[in-house]
Amino acid sequence: MTMPLPAPENTEISRPYWDALKLGRLVFQRCECGHAWLPARRGCPSCLGDKVQWEQACGKGRLVSWVVYHTAYHDAFKHRLPYNVAIVELTEGPRLITNMVDSHERLACDAAVELRVESDEGIALARFALSPRRDDEQGTGSPARRNRA
Ligand SMILES: [Zn+2]
Repeated sequence: MTMPLPAPENTEISRPYWDALKLGRLVFQRCECGHAWLPARRGCPSCLGDKVQWEQACGKGRLVSWVVYHTAYHDAFKHRLPYNVAIVELTEGPRLITNMVDSHERLACDAAVELRVESDEGIALARFALSPRRDDEQGTGSPARRNRA
């Protein structure tokens, strides 16, 4: 029997984030000063203001960095080895700690990535996949392919 995953912290402050993921959407907070961030917090980490709103992310970003774990520091992750933990920067600016769904060998710094909301033991999690390479889509001349989204 595998040990259950540690559950994410779902508090009054972070609840909109987890509720949106259940609907397949990734949201982040933005202050009236323009600063945007994750994870959720009560006030703006830049200006300390409290005029904060939730915004939906477009789901695109770039891979900033990642590590590959070959040792499980929690029994619930033993059967997943090796697994990665990545930092993705959303197009809108916030960075989040996540997992890449691609094989580790394909990961590259600054690679374009796209949101993949996955249910993991009943919990919707924001993971990311490498975006299709732009040169794969050039030269097809097919608007249908370009509009595929
Ligand atoms: Zn602010």
